[in-house]
Amino acid sequence: MSRSFDIAVIGAGAAGLAACQELTEAGLSVILLEARNRVGGRIFTEQDHTTGLPIEMGAEFIHGRPREIRELFREKPDSIYEAVGDTWCAQDGRLSRCRFFEDVQRLLQNMESNGADEPFLEFLDRQFPENGASPQQLELRRRALAYVSGFHAADPAKVGVQWLVKEQRAEDAMEGDRTFRLRGGYRELIEIFAQRLDRARAVVATDTVVSSVRWKAGEVQIAAFRLGESLLFDARAVVITLPLGVLQSPDGIGTVRFAPELPDEKKWAFGKLEMGMARRITLVFAQRFWEGLPGTAGLGKMRFLLSPGALFPTWWTLHPQPGPILTGWAPWQSAQELAGHSSSEVAQRAVETLSRLLQVSEEKLAANLRQAYSYDWQSDPFSRGAYSYGAVDARPAIEELARPVESTLFFAGEAVDTSGNNGTVQGAIASGQSAAQQVLAVLQGAAR
Ligand SMILES: Cc1cc2nc3c(=O)[nH]c(=O)nc-3n(C[C@H](O)[C@H](O)[C@H](O)COP(=O)(O)OP(=O)(O)OC[C@H]3O[C@@H](n4cnc5c(N)ncnc54)[C@H](O)[C@@H]3O)c2cc1C
Repeated sequence: MSRSFDIAVIGAGAAGLAACQELTEAGLSVILLEARNRVGGRIFTEQDHTTGLPIEMGAEFIHGRPREIRELFREKPDSIYEAVGDTWCAQDGRLSRCRFFEDVQRLLQNMESNGADEPFLEFLDRQFPENGASPQQLELRRRALAYVSGFHAADPAKVGVQWLVKEQRAEDAMEGDRTFRLRGGYRELIEIFAQRLDRARAVVATDTVVSSVRWKAGEVQIAAFRLGESLLFDARAVVITLPLGVLQSPDGIGTVRFAPELPDEKKWAFGKLEMGMARRITLVFAQRFWEGLPGTAGLGKMRFLLSPGALFPTWWTLHPQPGPILTGWAPWQSAQELAGHSSSEVAQRAVETLSRLLQVSEEKLAANLRQAYSYDWQSDPFSRGAYSYGAVDARPAIEELARPVESTLFFAGEAVDTSGNNGTVQGAIASGQSAAQQVLAVLQGAAR
């Protein structure tokens, strides 16, 4: 027997929760179907018991001051703090303060929004051909490559310049050069959504893996399974917030079959986007040992430590919050290399990198290490990667993805955000809110 709702929402990450909130506030009944045993999706905060500090397995930073997140925390603005501090670079075995982000940003400003689209690597080759570039230019080239592959978890030979320009403009519009965090971790944001959900109208079904969506205009039937039991849900429309990696996957657990199949335009659009890869590791130490290292006065104010070319090219501290914690970021090729490896194997590789960068023996680091946290988003069938990025000609493809199919299938999720915030929490929320508004516009039109 099937259960009936006005609207079904697939996926209870930031996009699904945002859509569900808007739809229930408008008086509709909603079934929110989530494969995992928790809501939040790629927002996943654990608690470290020795320090009591929140540990992020997925999203950690709020990039800039986005409306979507400021609105959620309007009544608790003190929950958010700015991640200020110094940026250090490791080069040729030496550490020094550097202006990594400022230098890269200046170079990225040379990307033009009205030219023909091209992969970022081609743009860089024209700016700084490897042959004939000065050592400073070569270093800037290395940094730009590290930034694009690190921040966007992207292959520089695939990511499109026009997509990067749009992301860049969206960042500029909301002070995207500043980064913030939530004191209690990103789970605070999920808790706000959970508290705001109207439980009389929203049913949240966790452990419920959707396997197919049968649809015709104005009607969907969703098949799912929950702990071995088959379930059916009927609704007038569905909001699909599946991660891009899941939507692109031809088969396997988590994959959703559409009957009839999605139109060719949608498949074309999926092909213009890529799922980026990243593996993070958070190392909890007994002390903030880096503050007392010889010859590195000022390391206590370190926010980022960057070393393009290392397996973990980016590291960060909790600064200005105290806490004996360092997080390593292994994007793109590094993440590929680490996919399928256990947290302890990844921790070992991270300690090797850190030992080289900070010139502290692996034995000393290991003796100081209390706990290591890592999550393999690449191998998780319900994410199949970290977050999306756009290839050449991605901009029209994202517009296409955000368009509903026969006023019945609506798409949301970070990959579908059209405001230039793909790959972020704010982009996911914006896309969920926008899909909900599309649904409401269709239903209101039908009621007239
Ligand atoms: C390691 C990492 C670091 C990141 N760092 C940042 C950061 O610092 N700042 C930032 O803004 N963003 C960051 N992000 C990106 C951010 O987490 C995502 O953009 C955002 O959380 C995506 O939300 P979403 O709702 O689109 O997707 P998701 O959160 O992935 O939600 C989709 C949901 O669909 C569910 N699902 C999948 N398949 C099925 C199925 N068959 N049936 C039912 N449910 C299904 C999934 O379980 C999931 O809960 C990071 C991501 C990762 C992985």
